[in-house]
Amino acid sequence: MSAPITQDVHTIPRKLPDGPINLVGLTRDAMRDALIAAGTPEKQAKMRVGQIWQWIYGWGVRDFEAMTNLSKVFRAELAEKFVIEIPEVVSKQVSTDGTRKWLVRIAGGHEVEVVYIPEEGRGTLCISSQVGCTLTCSFCHTGTQKLVRNLTAGEIVGQVMMARDDLNEWPVPGAPKDETRLLSNIVLMGMGEPLYNFENVRDAMKIAMDAEGIQLSRRRITLSTSGVVPEIARTAEEIGCQLAVSFHATTDAVRDTLVPINKRWNIDALLEALRAYPKVSNSERITFEYVMLDGVNDSDADAHRLVDLIRGIPAKINLIPFNEWPGAPYKRSSNNRIRKFADIIYKAGYASPIRTPRGEDIMAACGQLKSATERARKSRKQIEAEAGMSS
Ligand code: SAH
Ligand code: SF4
Repeated sequence: MSAPITQDVHTIPRKLPDGPINLVGLTRDAMRDALIAAGTPEKQAKMRVGQIWQWIYGWGVRDFEAMTNLSKVFRAELAEKFVIEIPEVVSKQVSTDGTRKWLVRIAGGHEVEVVYIPEEGRGTLCISSQVGCTLTCSFCHTGTQKLVRNLTAGEIVGQVMMARDDLNEWPVPGAPKDETRLLSNIVLMGMGEPLYNFENVRDAMKIAMDAEGIQLSRRRITLSTSGVVPEIARTAEEIGCQLAVSFHATTDAVRDTLVPINKRWNIDALLEALRAYPKVSNSERITFEYVMLDGVNDSDADAHRLVDLIRGIPAKINLIPFNEWPGAPYKRSSNNRIRKFADIIYKAGYASPIRTPRGEDIMAACGQLKSATERARKSRKQIEAEAGMSS
């Protein structure tokens, strides 16, 4: 079955007709232009951006009135023409292992999920870049969701701000800097294919990396792609973050069925793009994500082929035990099988960590994310039919 790969998405314009402009998600240049358009003298605009930026992204302030280094008149003008808005939290669940999952609502009433995974000495926020996903990887719950739209840059960085609110982690102006961060890393591994929403993801991550705001180093941000080959070089040049790739198979025949974008850009084309990535982005290793599916991609021969394929690429192979979801057409490989597979890779000289599923009790694990409303709407039969299963 060859499912067409389409990109049926639209973005909500940043400026709603005649409405106030949301400052969240604007690049520094865009914010400067917006201030000038609203009457700020050109000469002052850069300094004003710096001040507003610090309030919004450095200290988590959402109320212009609290921006005390701006004149009262200017604050009132800002409040008239602009808003500072982030996605609204609809619900929050906390797993027995400490993982938090939020369902947030964005413009148009759409919903996406955001997951926070606390670990020893660090904490990772898994954010979404799209509502649903236009791609239809057969093992992924998000891929069964029909409804799709790109998130704006504000909605993407807004997820990070929302999590900082909930973790109560905004620094207080003037207080000594706390080096231990609850939210220390970002992974773009939630809902959606980030490289089908390139500009918004780029702008949002630039904001997250900005030295005067959220201040997360590009080494602490990992973008995961299913393999949108033409955008990989752009990611290296324009974002420079760490890259993870959903590899999942060692032959084109199997990868075509698991990750259908492989029909457009096959394993060879993908590997060529990946070879160039570390140098251009000046990053370390590429993470190869490999979901372990019982009897599908988990043989010893697969492990040997995998190390042959990636030879020469600085890499780490992240083995992900398949996370089941209602109606999923696959089973998780046994622990023994996963260990054996990991061992072959490790002996060939690559780190091969097995990803511990987190937050399974709240459906927060990789590939389980989906808007709750969508989840409720679909029956198991529908999902199976859409996944091409006739049983
Ligand atoms: N669209 C991007 C990022 C989101 S998915 C991508 O595909 O890379 C994040 C990771 O979770 C990907 O490696 C994806 O293949 C994996 N994944 C999806 N469904 C999964 C499932 N049910 N079990 C385990 N991993 C899954
Ligand atoms: Fe989309 Fe990634 Fe899921 Fe594939 S694995 S359907 S690209 S979210």
